[in-house]
Amino acid sequence: MSAENILVIGAGIAGLNAALALSKPGRRVTLIERDPPPPEGSADEAFEVWERRGVGHLRHSHAFLARLYLLLREKYPDLLQALLDAGCRELRFEDGVPDTLREIYEPTQEDNDLTILTSRRTTLEFIMRRYVATLPGVKFITNTRVKGLRQDRAADGTPKITGVIVDKDGQEQILSADLVVDAGGKNALGMDWLKAAGIHVREEVEGAGILYYTRHYRLRPGQEEPPRGKLPGGADLGYIKYGIFPADNGCFSITLAVPEVEMELRRRIVHPDVFDTVCRAIPAMEPWIEETRVDPTSKVYGMGELKSQWRHLVEDGKPIVLNYIPMGDNLIRTNPLYGRGCSFAAVEAQALDRALDASDDPAEWARQYHADVARDVRPYYDSMLKQDLAAIRRAANGLNPDYKAGIKARLAKSFIEDAINIALRSDIDLLREAMHGFHMLSHPEAWLKKPMNFLKVMRVWARGKKRNKAYYLPRIGPKRHEMFELLELSPTLDWEKYNKAA
Ligand SMILES: Cc1cc2nc3c(=O)[nH]c(=O)nc-3n(C[C@H](O)[C@H](O)[C@H](O)COP(=O)(O)OP(=O)(O)OC[C@H]3O[C@@H](n4cnc5c(N)ncnc54)[C@H](O)[C@@H]3O)c2cc1C
Repeated sequence: MSAENILVIGAGIAGLNAALALSKPGRRVTLIERDPPPPEGSADEAFEVWERRGVGHLRHSHAFLARLYLLLREKYPDLLQALLDAGCRELRFEDGVPDTLREIYEPTQEDNDLTILTSRRTTLEFIMRRYVATLPGVKFITNTRVKGLRQDRAADGTPKITGVIVDKDGQEQILSADLVVDAGGKNALGMDWLKAAGIHVREEVEGAGILYYTRHYRLRPGQEEPPRGKLPGGADLGYIKYGIFPADNGCFSITLAVPEVEMELRRRIVHPDVFDTVCRAIPAMEPWIEETRVDPTSKVYGMGELKSQWRHLVEDGKPIVLNYIPMGDNLIRTNPLYGRGCSFAAVEAQALDRALDASDDPAEWARQYHADVARDVRPYYDSMLKQDLAAIRRAANGLNPDYKAGIKARLAKSFIEDAINIALRSDIDLLREAMHGFHMLSHPEAWLKKPMNFLKVMRVWARGKKRNKAYYLPRIGPKRHEMFELLELSPTLDWEKYNKAA
């Protein structure tokens, strides 16, 4: 059989990527979306009025890594141009070169690949959506909720999905399909429907250990963004992580990530004045929110329940269900701190297109798709998980007055702070290679596994703090007790939560 009639549940980032990848002569791709379409007007209008109850994180900071940026540049240049025309920004490698390397930095051709595409997510999404709507064979059904899957059995008894049940204006309808792509996002119900039908999907789940808080701002007329380079646009102070996200049309957002164990800070940081006080106390952010420079354009959006999750739909080489392909957050969720979710979705969509082209057998579609996705993105997933677990431990240990780091923990800390971080601030080639991994263009640890690079890092470590002095960052922000004093917060902890995390 061939997948001529494809139904996609959800027109978020994964749904749109699915349509981009799958739209081909001979295929019909229908996206069914519970939310209304974007407004007809400008990027500002989309940000201000587009109702997206199906995407709770729509107004959190978003950026596309080079993996996705390059895909757009190579396969969909018209779409990339439309995004740039709407004000989306290309943050290039050279924009992130630290001041310790600026003088010796010489651009290379390859540096153009290490580009982040950034804007308000509403802008990225509504421009993508407009473009996707022009693709041959692609159709949107909006304001329509999928409320179930239609199921049958293949000749060998394997369950197979033959369509979806939708709720349109209170009326139930059945839509048939050769293939259902479930891009319903992190709250998709597909796995629940499968479970109700006796199909159990195995999952790996780990908490990300943080909550996300985002506020948007706009530069006042005639004002410019502060210069970059001296202090990082994103860093980890232990009790808080911050990130500045330049966006389209004079806008930018700031995201603060707070460890789950910081109950008091979590509770207060949603207040705009507390949020801004935190930002002003951290030197890298302070110039960004000077009152004479910017106006806030939003409240503080908060988001919890952040986790990493990997779902398995092929067991021992056999798909547990046919003609049903989960994609995006419904298949793999990751901690948003790493900014990889949208790139994962794009990689998955391309993998599905290859699988559909390679075979007419639905079992083979599933096998090839899930194998391709695992081969490509699992290393990044594992590496993020490792970093998350270490960060959760660090945040919890940092709060424990009785905690004494053992020799192994002290060495690991020093390896990161005194070897890796300093090597990346003192060697432009190492920085380039590390960014390659960050952007999902090579294995995340490939750069460090190269003997020559490892040797360079060890040499930096051996040189010692004194001789590396010039490459250390200046103080990036107040210590926890200083910040808590400033915010007039009690530093006491929720010990139950703390013990669980520790
Ligand atoms: C706070 C936060 C910040 C992030 N920042 C970044 C970042 O900077 N860079 C990055 O790459 N990734 C980031 N991510 C991850 C990224 O947002 C997700 O990976 C991405 O949105 C996944 O796309 P999706 O299409 O699977 O889900 P979504 O984009 O959530 O879309 C799901 C769609 O399905 C629709 N839907 C759901 N159920 C139904 C139904 N039953 N019927 C019809 N429609 C339905 C919803 O309305 C929605 O439109 C972030 C995530 C969070 C939470």
